[in-house]
Amino acid sequence: AIQITGLNKWYGAYHALRDINLTVRRGEKIVICGPSGSGKSTMIRCINALEEHQEGQITVDGTVLSSDLKNIDTVRSEVGMCFQHFNLFPHLTILENCTLAPIWVRKIPQAEAEATAMHYLEKVKIPDQAHKYPGQLSGGQQQRVAIARSLCMKPRIMLFDEPTSALDPEMIKEVLDTMVALANDGMTMLCVTHEMGFARQVADRVIFMDQGQIVEENTPEPFFESPKNDRTKLFLSQLL
Ligand code: ATP
Ligand code: MG
Repeated sequence: AIQITGLNKWYGAYHALRDINLTVRRGEKIVICGPSGSGKSTMIRCINALEEHQEGQITVDGTVLSSDLKNIDTVRSEVGMCFQHFNLFPHLTILENCTLAPIWVRKIPQAEAEATAMHYLEKVKIPDQAHKYPGQLSGGQQQRVAIARSLCMKPRIMLFDEPTSALDPEMIKEVLDTMVALANDGMTMLCVTHEMGFARQVADRVIFMDQGQIVEENTPEPFFESPKNDRTKLFLSQLL
């Protein structure tokens, strides 16, 4: 579903991504971890062209991400994204947050968009909150709305960038449960997270990044039990 070859990205003179090669198959779940500043967010953001890359190629479901705006639109319509900060529109209800883009971008009739929104709000277990405003919800509930809102655009791939790192501990589990359910539904997922329990439970592969490079990549068990790279070992020892 995603193919990244020879990806290099600079912010000015700073070399943020170095020769990244990564293939994500349909339905695969990848967890990306690594120290702060290692390029995890940058890589995720390159995949839906929130950041431009200078070298290499990113292909999403056969569409090459180039500066061609049509291709960028195509890719973005297939890729949903969920960030640390949920960025819900505070002046719109939960339901309106979920139907805004389907109605205005996808031109879906309102009734159909609302039915779809309710379907996904049920999936994330908060249909009863549909008519509230984001400020009336807990952080965990808001993040689940953000996930439902992405799903309303019917993405084929979901990117997550530390979706639980701004949440209080008691709310982390409910968001992770939502992500596990999504994984079990067969969604293709790329998740930047340091929730290693989640990684063990759902990841097909875990990727460790450091200084803009993929330093290690393995299935969860050998990744956690017998990491090969010294930087991975150090990182994992600091997590536990
Ligand atoms: P964290 O775990 O803290 O979120 P990260 O692995 O997601 O870190 P990135 O946000 O991808 O790291 O940043 C990688 C490097 O690129 C960092 O050194 C960062 O300072 C730099 N960087 C990120 N965004 C920009 C930007 N817009 N302009 C300049 N440099 C940037
Ligand atoms: Mg980041």
